[in-house]
Amino acid sequence: MKTLLTEEQLREGIRRMAGEIQTHYQGKPLTLIGVLTGSIVLLADLVRLLDVALRVDMIQARCDHAKGVCLGPLVIDEDLLSYGVRGRHVLLVDDIFHTGHTLWDLVPQIDDLGPASVRTAVLFQKEGQCQVAMKPDFVGFTIPNAFVVGYGLDYRDRYRNLPCLAALEPGEMGEEPKA
Ligand code: 5GP
Ligand code: MG
Repeated sequence: MKTLLTEEQLREGIRRMAGEIQTHYQGKPLTLIGVLTGSIVLLADLVRLLDVALRVDMIQARCDHAKGVCLGPLVIDEDLLSYGVRGRHVLLVDDIFHTGHTLWDLVPQIDDLGPASVRTAVLFQKEGQCQVAMKPDFVGFTIPNAFVVGYGLDYRDRYRNLPCLAALEPGEMGEEPKA
């Protein structure tokens, strides 16, 4: 496993991103919506760094699977949202933007719920991998195209709790998680 970003570097980048978000949403009713589960660590940081009145909510994106392949677009489990978003400025928070399909699917579904605006924030964006006609509005770090773990991101339920961001080497994937 190779460390790509240290805890200190992550802290700096998140602080900068929070500053940009704060400037953008000053005086507006803001709702942060985290995409479960990878966004939880970033979300907890943003909530503590943003000095604006805000609501926090979560969504889970689900997809019908056949033999491990996602069939059709991701849909949100709307029941998870505890608040309405009508008239609120929504910032959808996810861990990482790889191809972009996740946020591309989710943004219009949030938009259908009648918010004043919908924007997106991700901690990481993989360089040169975008396959959709959108880019995230707030990005912590652009990273090389590797499978990364830590700071909320898992591999088979492991590594979410790493305080840094690390790239898994090919030999480290495919093995069964240790108990
Ligand atoms: P996208 O739809 O942009 O291709 O991928 C976004 C989702 O795929 C993320 O929310 C995340 O759950 C997962 N993902 C993409 N790349 C990685 C990665 O390098 N590591 C981990 N752990 N998850 C990833
Ligand atoms: Mg995800």
